Amino acid sequence: MGSRRDFLEKLTVSTISLPLLYNPTNLFAASDEAYDGPILKVAIMGLGSYARRVAKAMESCKRAKLTGVISGTPSKIVEWRAKYGIPEKNCYNYDNFDRIKENPDIDVVYVITPNGLHKDQTIRVAKAGKHVICEKPMGINAQEGQEMVDACKAANVKLLIGYRMHYEPKTVEVIRMRKAGEFGKLKFFQGQSGFTIGDPTQWRLNKKLAGGGAMMDIGIYSINGARYMLGEEPIWVTAQETKTDSVKFKEGVDETIQFQMGFPSGAVASCLSTYAMSHLDRFFLNGEDGFAEMQPSTGYGPIKGRTHKGELKQPHITHQTLQMDGMAQLIFEGVEPIVPLDGEEGVKDMKIIDAIYLAVKTGKRVDL
Ligand code: NAD
Repeated sequence: MGSRRDFLEKLTVSTISLPLLYNPTNLFAASDEAYDGPILKVAIMGLGSYARRVAKAMESCKRAKLTGVISGTPSKIVEWRAKYGIPEKNCYNYDNFDRIKENPDIDVVYVITPNGLHKDQTIRVAKAGKHVICEKPMGINAQEGQEMVDACKAANVKLLIGYRMHYEPKTVEVIRMRKAGEFGKLKFFQGQSGFTIGDPTQWRLNKKLAGGGAMMDIGIYSINGARYMLGEEPIWVTAQETKTDSVKFKEGVDETIQFQMGFPSGAVASCLSTYAMSHLDRFFLNGEDGFAEMQPSTGYGPIKGRTHKGELKQPHITHQTLQMDGMAQLIFEGVEPIVPLDGEEGVKDMKIIDAIYLAVKTGKRVDL
């Protein structure tokens, strides 16, 4: 770890209340002031519902700006060009986007397509010499994730995963408290992540495009959350699947999985991932000296929660605005969020998902 990183980490732990840029609350406050530094020029690939949310949030960014789009649907390109003033020369389709290489108006491509397409698209963007932000899950298994990491390293570009909670102020506060030892020895994390999925023909229920079911899409929040709330990597998993609708949830598409993770300190996590229950968005962290509970914990917000010290009062700021300004700062200045969100971090989650699926299949504990 470099000395600058050391320095920043120490500051993060001990003096987060100072107006340092990597504190999301202060980052946003700072961004209200005049900013004349570099602007991250972003092209979005895949103009679906989450892309729309990200583009809208980016209108409030100071350090990042939407400058291009990649889409297979010409009518969407027309709509987005008009809405965001995107010049025609910054618009691409899935056949010709390798030409982005010659375009100085694009620094980074944000891949917001179905999970099963992320790997190939990320590798093509990396080969075109642009940084990549890729939505979660980064791919459909750990091997794909590792190939993406390797390709971005070989091309000397950054790979960041769209883990927006790593910039969310209440989440950051709980992580700060955990790093400062305010919960004492951590014993237990509970994560519940789910919603009731609708249209049975959507790509999220297609094994090839989704890579799985609820675990890939929403259960990953409990996995990632367990890791950043406990601050450790699991060493084993156990998992049990329940399927009540085998028409909607075909072979390889999970409906509900309960899973448990064990950590080197002895802490355990007990989690639920589902596409068959509504309003399931809750984290609970328990330590010898305190607790944190958040509900909702990973939705678009406002996130709500309390600890043994009282209610979490950090402001609600649109997650994707913070994320994109934070990622711009990471790319230009090397300022890391409180927990990393690079490709390696994404691979850690994918390894756990692989292990959970194996544990479901074998009925046995899987060591990591
Ligand atoms: P969506 O279906 O609304 O959009 C997907 C887009 O990809 C569409 O514009 C579609 O036209 C395009 N696409 C390109 N090739 C396609 C193909 N072969 N099949 C189907 N669509 C194709 O989905 P979404 O909700 O925007 O999700 C996209 C990605 O974003 C997923 O990886 C998802 O996990 C992620 N996501 C993340 C968050 C978050 O909070 N971080 C929230 C929602 C979605």
